[in-house]
Amino acid sequence: MAQVEPIPSIDGRRRYQTLSPVDGAPLGEFECASAQDVADAIAIAREAQVAWGRASFDARAEVMRRALAVVMARKDDILDIVMRETGRSRMESTVMEIFPACDSLNFHARRAKKILAERSVGLHLLRHKRARIAYRPLGVIGIITPWNGPFIMGLNPTVQALMAGNAVVLKPSEVTPFSGKMVGEIFEEAGLPPGLLHVLLGDGETGRALVEGGVDKISFTGSVATGRKVGASCGQQLIPCTLELGGKDPMIVCADADLERAAGGAVFGAFMNNGQFCSSTERVYVHKAVAEAFTAKVVEKVQALTVGGGAAGSDFDMGPFIMPRQIETVDRHVTRAVEAGARVLVGGKRAGGQGRYYYEPTVLADVTHDMEVMTEETFGPVLPIMVVESEREAVRLANDCKYGLGATVWTKDKQRGEQIGRQLMSGSVCVNDSSVTYGALEVPFGGRRESGVGAVNGEAGLKGYCHAQPVITDRFGLKEEQVWFPYTQKKLTGLERAIKWMWGTPLRKLLE
Ligand code: NAD
Repeated sequence: MAQVEPIPSIDGRRRYQTLSPVDGAPLGEFECASAQDVADAIAIAREAQVAWGRASFDARAEVMRRALAVVMARKDDILDIVMRETGRSRMESTVMEIFPACDSLNFHARRAKKILAERSVGLHLLRHKRARIAYRPLGVIGIITPWNGPFIMGLNPTVQALMAGNAVVLKPSEVTPFSGKMVGEIFEEAGLPPGLLHVLLGDGETGRALVEGGVDKISFTGSVATGRKVGASCGQQLIPCTLELGGKDPMIVCADADLERAAGGAVFGAFMNNGQFCSSTERVYVHKAVAEAFTAKVVEKVQALTVGGGAAGSDFDMGPFIMPRQIETVDRHVTRAVEAGARVLVGGKRAGGQGRYYYEPTVLADVTHDMEVMTEETFGPVLPIMVVESEREAVRLANDCKYGLGATVWTKDKQRGEQIGRQLMSGSVCVNDSSVTYGALEVPFGGRRESGVGAVNGEAGLKGYCHAQPVITDRFGLKEEQVWFPYTQKKLTGLERAIKWMWGTPLRKLLE
């Protein structure tokens, strides 16, 4: 049984039924948007965008504030759907979906105006010109999202794209379609002008139709394999894209780390959302001086984790696999690691009596970089711990990876922690903290290497939904410029003299 199953079709349209990850009970059915539906949505969005692109930031912000009020008023409805689709606890669903949704709406409503305000730029050389940079909306943004943060992954980029003056066509994961659909309902209730946001349910084919449908940018979050296809298509079409892909985040525990905090951070970082988090802590490098004490604390904390799901309470820590296929990857990584000499300290198998979508929170020791569990994204509740001789070795091993999304460093010497962080090939680094970067809306969130291209959040993320258009205006209205036709020996001599004065004398300083 998969969590999303095709339903036989009589009219050629693809339909699916989704099932609870907790007990397999049916959750709902949906029909996939066809290529024609996608084309129609893009055409309507393109028309609606014209007025929205001209609307003031204040007018756009007003819609975001109303959407915030709707999210707060409908918090329980959103949680209900998210919890049914993911099996997560109420606490985790609130932390991962509601809290950041409120923050994104509130933050971008105000900050977008400041970040995207048209501004003048003093020109160092062409001082007789006036320059301004306008952040113009791109047009229609296609947003494609995964299942592991089914509401927030759709809402957050949508807020940013809309605040930047764009229209949006959002295609949520087929695994968790109804959480994604809520994003559309929230904005509709908030009075977003009609036609500006379309949430199209569908599978990979629908996603492909959106990528190829003539949008002005794709904001994709998902796996490396799909990201490559999306990136290739955007490259062919010469449209920009951001690709927020997988990760294998390292954690470096230095000899002077606060072991209680580091162990807590490791367990939260690795087992939050059942490990189905792009920036999960997926491997630990701990200094030999503290390895035993750190590992003992981790094991103790993992043994205390409770596994549950389904009930509308918050009295369990870890839910099931949202996407059942994931359990096979986890099983394979653990089994092969054990065959190659890894030791299971806790867990190491599917959870008894909890159904087929649970896996015991697992800690592995004696792991090496020959094992998939240390090199491939596991995306499940597994924490492999490797003992290292020095911080230098930890940095080398942390960088010995094809991914580069996040990383964490744990030490009482914060400056040293930041120094180590700067040596890591990762999109972001946390010192003495875990899994916070996506929630820090001021900073860009994105990956290096196979973890992706571009960023969401931060100035870079917001500006990524715009074209930065310089407007340069001549100030003095001279009849002609020195370098215009006709080219003459006299002009050339003047130019050569100018080059000599400007960069061959102390005058150069004025042009720095
Ligand atoms: P996925 O690549 O299977 O699917 C992601 C989305 O792409 C879905 O909506 C899917 O329908 C769509 N899709 C599938 N084929 C497509 C195609 N050919 N063209 C266009 N769209 C297509 O990923 P997933 O399994 O849903 O998500 C898990 C992955 O997402 C993990 O690797 C995780 O690390 C990553 N992720 C990354 C971030 C980040 O910010 N870096 C955040 C969350 C998840």
